[in-house]
Amino acid sequence: MTKVSRTKIAPEGPVFSSLVQGYWRMGDWNMDPQSRLTFLKQHVELGITTVDHAHVYGSAQAPCETLFGEALKLDPAMRDEIEIISKCGIEVMRGDAPSNHVNHYNSSQSNIIRSVETSLQRLGVEQLDVLLIHRPDILMDADEVASAAALLKRQGKIKHLGVSNFTPSQFALLQSRCDAPLVTNQVEINPLNLSVTEDGTLDQLQQFSVRPMAWSCLAGGALFDTNTDNVQRLQQTLNAIKQEIGAKSIEQVVFSWVLRLPSQPLPIIGSGNIERVRSAVAATELTLSNQQWYRIWVASKGHGVA
Ligand code: NAP
Repeated sequence: MTKVSRTKIAPEGPVFSSLVQGYWRMGDWNMDPQSRLTFLKQHVELGITTVDHAHVYGSAQAPCETLFGEALKLDPAMRDEIEIISKCGIEVMRGDAPSNHVNHYNSSQSNIIRSVETSLQRLGVEQLDVLLIHRPDILMDADEVASAAALLKRQGKIKHLGVSNFTPSQFALLQSRCDAPLVTNQVEINPLNLSVTEDGTLDQLQQFSVRPMAWSCLAGGALFDTNTDNVQRLQQTLNAIKQEIGAKSIEQVVFSWVLRLPSQPLPIIGSGNIERVRSAVAATELTLSNQQWYRIWVASKGHGVA
């Protein structure tokens, strides 16, 4: 059985499994607490020990952190087997909010602290391994975020701080105010969205030896929707490469395409189907040539290189 390797994600960062299990869609998995615990144990058995959460995942009635916490409660010793990431900074207005209020980003110190305390309480754990600022907040006061993170670290509520969906300049700004290095930038990477390969995001992380985390590697399932020209083109290329490298599915080719990037992203798996998780793990053994990598790029762009 292929087992996922472990890796230090930044010079002063934590050691994570090189594939991460995402829990955004957990509310759709229709699992009872025991099945959720079984799923967690199954992916830990494969070496996937790092789990990705966010304060906003799930519904108001059933936040994903609460669903996960219910499973963890059945076997509290599992906490020591895993690393937990959660995110803060998106404020979703619930039903009882005034009608003129909108969803917004909020990276104030009080909101960050409130969000982390809620996540810890829902998960039933004492510490997050990594806290991410979920989205860049145009009104972000970098000093305030840095001071919130420092306080949470002193209190033992988080070990490390990172960001998600930050541009290189937003990353640099926050980094300039933090005592400790940011440990990751979690960004979207898939053949339908190449933007972080072009805007300097991955270059900056590579420069600082910080590993990106890659969300929606399968474009949230859009790679399987054959209604658009570029998806049809991509599927043809992915299927051809699948045959060439002996992959079992086009998903495996896509994971292998993400893993081929020199910044060495950690793909986050979105499926709650353990067979699909196993398939992603097996993809870590596949390697694409430069030719194959660029054929997928060409299929995505619809044109060759200049
Ligand atoms: P994804 O792997 O791109 O998409 C997963 C979806 O694709 C699931 O609905 C899955 O369905 C479906 N799928 C997988 N294989 C398929 C196939 N062969 N045919 C049809 N559908 C297939 O990942 P994601 O869920 O969008 O994102 C992964 C994780 O990244 C999330 O759980 C979350 O932790 C994180 N994330 C972070 C951010 C951020 O802003 N930081 C944003 C989005 C996501 P099944 O469940 O049925 O397998």
